[in-house]
Amino acid sequence: MRLVLVGPPGSGKGTQAERLVQHFNLTQVGTGAMFRDHIERGTEIGRQVESLIREGRLVGDDIVNEMVAELFRNPGTRPRCFVMDGYPRTYAQAIAFDALLKLELLALDAVINLKIDDEAVVKRIGGRMCCSNPECGHCHNLYNLPPKVPGKCDKCGSPLVIRDDDREETIRRRLGQFYQNTDALLEHYRKQGLVRDISAADPPDTIFQNILKALGPRGK
Ligand code: AMP
Repeated sequence: MRLVLVGPPGSGKGTQAERLVQHFNLTQVGTGAMFRDHIERGTEIGRQVESLIREGRLVGDDIVNEMVAELFRNPGTRPRCFVMDGYPRTYAQAIAFDALLKLELLALDAVINLKIDDEAVVKRIGGRMCCSNPECGHCHNLYNLPPKVPGKCDKCGSPLVIRDDDREETIRRRLGQFYQNTDALLEHYRKQGLVRDISAADPPDTIFQNILKALGPRGK
């Protein structure tokens, strides 16, 4: 199974990606997580993207395309079955990703479009806390996915923190950017018959069941 997850920040992309990974045994490719890891390790890419990410601005297409291409080109890291979490995010990235997959003789099965309105996102992200351990990165939500032990990650027990880019003003900027870029991206994938629209306002379990249903026989 090869999937792309599209959804505004706070639509539950990361949570659904984790479930898809477990259900279909996929590699999760999260470009936001890859960038945070670069920043943590103080790499050249990390230095280039740090302030953009903190301010909730998109990283340039060239940098993100190259980082993903590198992952797919390297036989040691190339995922065969995957869920893309946060990439492609622009039309230009979708075109670059199509070309990359063609070279690798891989084809997408579906693009899952998680739909939710802005006010629900602002409320939801206000409750978001993510694991401070960069190798984990698991996110909880005080409203709909609280940790079992307050302030601690269910997966690895590390302290939970509020991400810098999860402040309300930043969220509104990220939402604006998301819709500015997504129409053309979805249109591109709709033409290929790949888009499955899913309401992301429901609880995480319901969203996941709806995704499986939308994948049809392959979702069983
Ligand atoms: P995320 O964890 O997916 O919400 O990503 C966090 C931040 O990383 C975003 O706000 C962007 O600054 C950057 N980022 C992640 N993926 C991309 C992408 N495909 N294109 C541009 N910027 C990205």
